[in-house]
Amino acid sequence: MKKKSWIKIALSFAVQCKWKILLSVICAIIGVFAGIVPYWCAYKIIELFVNGSISLNQIAYYCLAAVSGYAVRYLFHGISTTLSHLSAYNILENIRLSLARTFVKAPLGYVMGESVGKLKSVIVDRVETIELPLAHVIPECISNITLSISVFAYLTFIDWRMALAMLITVPIAGTSYMIMMKNFNSEYAKYMETSNYVNSVIVEYVEGIEVIKAFNQSTTSYNKFVNAIKTFRNSTLAWYKSVWKYMNFGNSVLPSTFLGVLPIGLILYVNGQISPQNLVICLILSLGVVGPMMNFTNYINEAKAIEYALHDVSSELETPVLSDSEKDIEIKDNTIELKNISFSYDGNLDNKVLSDINCIFKKNEFTALVGPSGSGKSTIARLIARFWDTNEGSILIGGVDIRDISISKLNELISFVTQDTYLFNCSVKENIRLGNPDASDTEVFNAAKLACCDEFIKELESGYDTVVGNAGNKLSGGEKQRISIARMILKNSPIVILDEATAFTDPENESKLQQSLSALSKGKLLLVIAHRLSTIKNADKIIVLNNGKIDNMGTHEELLQNCELYHDMWLSHIGAKNWSANSKRKEVL
Ligand code: ADP
Repeated sequence: MKKKSWIKIALSFAVQCKWKILLSVICAIIGVFAGIVPYWCAYKIIELFVNGSISLNQIAYYCLAAVSGYAVRYLFHGISTTLSHLSAYNILENIRLSLARTFVKAPLGYVMGESVGKLKSVIVDRVETIELPLAHVIPECISNITLSISVFAYLTFIDWRMALAMLITVPIAGTSYMIMMKNFNSEYAKYMETSNYVNSVIVEYVEGIEVIKAFNQSTTSYNKFVNAIKTFRNSTLAWYKSVWKYMNFGNSVLPSTFLGVLPIGLILYVNGQISPQNLVICLILSLGVVGPMMNFTNYINEAKAIEYALHDVSSELETPVLSDSEKDIEIKDNTIELKNISFSYDGNLDNKVLSDINCIFKKNEFTALVGPSGSGKSTIARLIARFWDTNEGSILIGGVDIRDISISKLNELISFVTQDTYLFNCSVKENIRLGNPDASDTEVFNAAKLACCDEFIKELESGYDTVVGNAGNKLSGGEKQRISIARMILKNSPIVILDEATAFTDPENESKLQQSLSALSKGKLLLVIAHRLSTIKNADKIIVLNNGKIDNMGTHEELLQNCELYHDMWLSHIGAKNWSANSKRKEVL
C-alpha cells in the first residue's frame, strides 16, 4: 500500500492551527524578501556612484533602508518562528492525544502485548523529534523557494542570460548531491533501524537491571549494550564517510554563483549588451540567493526525520480499535453465555487456542475454570472482559452480545482482578477511590475495611493519605493486592472475574486475601481461575478445559466421579499422585 506523504499526515493534525501556519509562512516570506533589501540598497549606492550624483543624504537614506530591511528580516523571521513553533507543539499535542485515544480504544490485549519501551518511544521520543524540523521546514522551505524563484524571475526580466548564468552551479552541485543521495533512503532506513535497536537495548538494560544483577549477568548485558552503541557509531560513520566528499563538494560549489554571473556578466558588459547598473544588481542578487539555496540541503535531512517519525505514528494509529456501541442498553440479568466461541490470538483459525466453547455462567453463581496450563482459561476470562473480540461465536451478557454493549458499560459490569495489580503514585485513598470517583471518604474507608486493608493502611506514616510511590513500590505485593480489591469493592460490579488472583500470595496474607475476595464477590456472578483447586472446591459449577476445549463440567463431586483429568489434577493438588488408579476414587470421595 502506498504510504501517505508526511506533509498530508502533519497537516491532518494541524486543523486548529492552519491559520497560524499560513501566517508563519507569510511572515517567513516577508522576512526573506526583507533580507534582500540591504543588497538592493548597496546596489542603489553603487548606482549613485556610477552616475556621479552621490550625496550624503542619499547614502544615509539607503543605509537606513538597509538597516531597516535587516531589522524587518529578523523581526519577521522571529514572528514566523514563534508561530511555527506554536503550531508544531499544537501538532505534537494532537498526535499524542490521537495515539492515547487509539491505545484506549484498541483491544486491551494488544496494548498489553506491546513493550512499554516501544510505546513510550513512539508517544514521547519519536513525536518529539519532529518538533524542531517541523517548525522550520514548512515556513523556511516555502519562503526560500519563493525568494529563489522571484530572484530568478527578476534576473530573467533584466537579462535572461544572467538568470541562466546564476544557475550554472546548480547542475554541477546537483550531480554531486544526486550521487550522495543515491542510497539515501536505504541508508536512512538502516540508520533508523540501528538507532531503534540501540534504544531497545537501553530500555531492556534498564528494565531488566534486577534480573541482570540477580543472575550476575552484568558483563554480558553490558557488552550487548556497548556492542549496540558501537554498531550504531560504526554504521553512522561509514555512511558519513561514504558521502562527505560529495556533500562538501556540492556545498562549496552551489553557493559559488559568481562562477557563472561574473564571467557572463563581464562578457555581456564588454559587448555593450548590459548596463553597468544591471550588471551590479545581477551580481548582488546572485549573492543574496546563496543563503536560501544552501538551506535546501539541511531540509532534506530534516524532512526525512519527520517522514520516519510520522510514518511510525501513523502505523500505530492504524492499530485496529474495538467497535464501541452507541446504544444504551440496560442489562437486567448478568448471566454470561458463551456461544460457539473459537479464538486465535493471531486471527488465523488454524492456530486456535479455543474451539467451540459453549457454556453458561449463571447470575449470582460461583463458577470456576480449571485445566492444565495453556488450556485457555485466562483467554476465556479476557474475552468476556473484551480484551479481544472473538473470531467466531458470541458472548452474551443478559442475552445481549457484548459487542452491542458500550465499552464503558461493560467496564461497569465487570471487575477483573489478576495477580498483577497496579497502583498509581498518589495517596492510598485516591487509589481506592479510582473504583468509584464519586465515593465519599467513609465509603472508601468501609471498602478498605471489607478488603482487610484498613489495619495496615492506618499504620502507614500518613494513613490513608500516604502516597504509595511509583507503581505502589512502597507496599508489599499482598498489601497492593488488597488495596486493588478494595478498589473493586467500591466499584461494586455485578460480575467479578478473578484470574489466578491468589496464585502468588504468601501464607501470611492468604486468609486475609480470601476474606477480602469473599467480600468482593458477595451476591455476584463470580468467575474464578485458580491453580489451587481447594480454593474453588465449593464452586456451584466447575468447568474443566483441556487444549482449548471443554472437557467436562459439574460440581467438585461430580467431576471427581466423571472427569479423569479433573480427578488427576485434584490428586496431584492434594499430593496423592501415587495412589493406585482403583483405590484413589474411593479414598478421595
Ligand atoms: P491458561 O490460562 O489456561 O494457562 P491461556 O489462556 O493463558 O492459558 O493461554 C492459552 C494459549 O494461548 C496458550 O497456548 C498460550 O501460549 C496462548 N496465548 C496466551 N496469551 C497469548 C498472547 N497474548 N498472544 C499469543 N498467544 C497467547
